[in-house]
Amino acid sequence: MANSHSIGILAVQGDFGMHARMLECLGVAWRLVKHASEFGEIGGLIMPGGESTTMLKFFADEDLGPAIKDFAARGKPVFGTCAGVILLAQEVLNPPQQSLGLLDISIERNAYGRQIDSSVQQGECPELFDHPVEMVFIRAPIIRRVGNGVKVLGRANGLPVLVEQGNILAATFHPELTEDGTIHRYFVKKTGGTSSK
Ligand code: GLN
Repeated sequence: MANSHSIGILAVQGDFGMHARMLECLGVAWRLVKHASEFGEIGGLIMPGGESTTMLKFFADEDLGPAIKDFAARGKPVFGTCAGVILLAQEVLNPPQQSLGLLDISIERNAYGRQIDSSVQQGECPELFDHPVEMVFIRAPIIRRVGNGVKVLGRANGLPVLVEQGNILAATFHPELTEDGTIHRYFVKKTGGTSSK
């Protein structure tokens, strides 16, 4: 059931449905968000993977960019995955593109190569897991610069892949595509919510 503590999932494009499935499995209230007017009704926001260039077009049409910036400025937690991280970044490379500038990183799009270079890697997130973590990378970006205020929570092949800056959490991989809800549970906790499973 949706309520004002529900996690909003940005649903203009991309794999928002898999985040909904994950929150459902965890027993967490969620709702899809498509319009700026809906931001008063959520306690946290997930920005899914997909195609950041397409999402940017929706941002311009729907006034979503300012709504997300305002939401984050009010201290509300935001969790970006893959394209969502590209949209949150301070600087986007390959090619440069507009972004919200809410996370002090530089990020290179499609940095592992093309679709065929997508992969499942074993990474480490020592603060969240005491074992290697399966991480799914799909035409994923690489974080090339991490600002001073940004904490690296997870790495794969030595590269930062899960980072946090205050209320912003960002994964360049897709935790919603695995059966492990640990990272979503961590985000839900940031919003002050609890998961019943
Ligand atoms: N390659 C996509 C982009 O640049 C991101 C891919 C993803 O979100 N899985 O926006």
